[in-house]
Amino acid sequence: MTILNSLCRINNLFKPLKLSENVFLVARRSLASTGTYDYDLAVIGGGSGGLACAKEAVNLGAKVTVLDYVTPSPQGTKWGLGGTCVNVGCIPKKLMHQAALLGESIHEAVAYGWEVPSLDAIKINWPALTEAVQNHIKSVNWVTRVDLREKKIDYVNGLGEFKDPHTLIATLKNGSKKEITAKNIVIAVGGRPHYPDIPGAVEYCISSDDIFSLGHPPGKTLVVGAGYIGLECAGFLNSLGYPATVLVRSVPLRGFDQQMAQAVTSEMEQKGVVFHNKCVPLSVEKLETGQLKARWQNTETQERGEDVFDTVLMATGRYALTKTLNLEAAGVTCVSNSGKIIAETEQTNVSNIYAVGDVLEGKPELTPVAIHAGRLLARRMFAGATQPMDYDNVATTVFTPLEYGCVGLSEETALARHGADKVEVYHAFYKPTEFFIPQRNIRNCYLKAVALREAPQRILGLHFVGPVAGEVIQGFAAAVKCGITMEQLMNTVGIHPTVAEEFTRLNITKRSGKDPNPASCCS
Ligand code: FAD
Ligand code: NAP
Repeated sequence: MTILNSLCRINNLFKPLKLSENVFLVARRSLASTGTYDYDLAVIGGGSGGLACAKEAVNLGAKVTVLDYVTPSPQGTKWGLGGTCVNVGCIPKKLMHQAALLGESIHEAVAYGWEVPSLDAIKINWPALTEAVQNHIKSVNWVTRVDLREKKIDYVNGLGEFKDPHTLIATLKNGSKKEITAKNIVIAVGGRPHYPDIPGAVEYCISSDDIFSLGHPPGKTLVVGAGYIGLECAGFLNSLGYPATVLVRSVPLRGFDQQMAQAVTSEMEQKGVVFHNKCVPLSVEKLETGQLKARWQNTETQERGEDVFDTVLMATGRYALTKTLNLEAAGVTCVSNSGKIIAETEQTNVSNIYAVGDVLEGKPELTPVAIHAGRLLARRMFAGATQPMDYDNVATTVFTPLEYGCVGLSEETALARHGADKVEVYHAFYKPTEFFIPQRNIRNCYLKAVALREAPQRILGLHFVGPVAGEVIQGFAAAVKCGITMEQLMNTVGIHPTVAEEFTRLNITKRSGKDPNPASCCS
């Protein structure tokens, strides 16, 4: 313990207390054995955050139950235990993204000498793709159920709502009700896709809840919304051979570094995705052919547009599933206008009721965030730990055809927070070695480091558009968390030839006005 603490101090990585909390948590005796409540902890929602919290709590000796229930989408899609990430989020999305990348690789393989009988004959088999994806998901659902059973976490497949601050009512599949009492309750109900209030939206359109198990090929698709989900879905659909059009209300990836967002959409445009900027949907009508006629309007010019699609996918954000929780019965009042729970340290205004994950107001809606916050909360509840969740400098990646990974501040936010005089931006275009032989377009392979100008130039944000951006940014995210400076980054020896090494080669500032284009592969 002492050695670990000393090492920790030397490296200045964690505060000793935090390390000791992480490594030497002491399980407390279950309070449920006193018989006051059925459980020490009841979790509403068996997704990323809820399951992580439940498993950590049970490891620490608590008696735990998890309620999970999936209300079918308007199109009737439903799924099993595990929440959004596993069933209709990160996992099926990444698998379809991978399928799309593989399709592109077949074409590039020819340039490397692979003999492909007929490139024209290469096409995706949608039913085979969805079957493979769904089979994987079902195996994860099964493993999750077994894991809960082995950990002795009671799983209730029921829709939970509050009766009072310590009592939940679960409505089971057959309509029967079950009452559960618990000392602590965690709300981890996540969210579901929002549909704009226009004719035909709910009746005829699908959302990310439906796309990964769609029973027929999507065909020509209109994607409404240009956030994470809109761009990712448009990206993989288009690369799978289903022409995609995107309606962008304001700007793509609002809130992200806009220069990087432009690189992402410019690459998508070059691959054939059509963008209608500053456009909102007006209506979706079903034609006799079964196709969908979508109408939209440009909010600046008021010009109207329309086209016929096989599929319209709404990717216009997500709402928190708090409406059916009967929060009033528990006295939970810290709810925002949008229905999200305002809880800075995951604790609501009712001391024994907590919330984690997408249901929280103002926190990143990401699986690892929900998991980490859930685990830390369990440790605070059942092991006397004090470490709060740190929501700053959370890295993320948008899995578009050319991926975009980032951590920390965008250039815009850094300038707004610190002022243009105090911020230095290093940037470069680069050419991935693997793009040379297929002569792939490199115009959008771009990266930047946003740093304080004053030496040693602490880095505020790192941004990378290119292949495997998520893998690149993950390691650098740890460095940013440790307070890495430009000086340290420039003194880091790269791994050649990788795309990640481009961060160690950064030396041109925007302020200098020098050309950030690459000279040669080994310059
Ligand atoms: P969820 O995982 O949504 O779990 C909540 C669970 O509670 C659900 O099973 C729900 O049905 C259930 N529930 C709701 N109400 C009740 C109730 N009253 N009673 C019982 N059960 C209830 N994040 C990433 O980090 N990387 C990605 O690449 C990524 N890709 C994504 C792609 C898509 C298309 C989507 C939609 C999301 C993606 N996300 C991604 C976000 C990620 O999925 C979420 O941040 C994460 O799942 C949130 O976890 P959670 O525990 O808060 O909620
Ligand atoms: P989002 O990022 O908030 O994007 C919603 C998009 O819909 C925005 O472009 C928004 O435009 C547009 N929009 C909203 N209402 C509209 C309307 N009425 N008409 C037209 N356009 C409208 O939401 P999301 O894409 O649904 O993603 C939700 C969350 O899931 C994300 O915040 C993210 O945390 C998580 N997620 C993560 C990943 C990942 O890690 N790779 C992938 C997918 C999802 P404006 O910008 O003009 O508001």
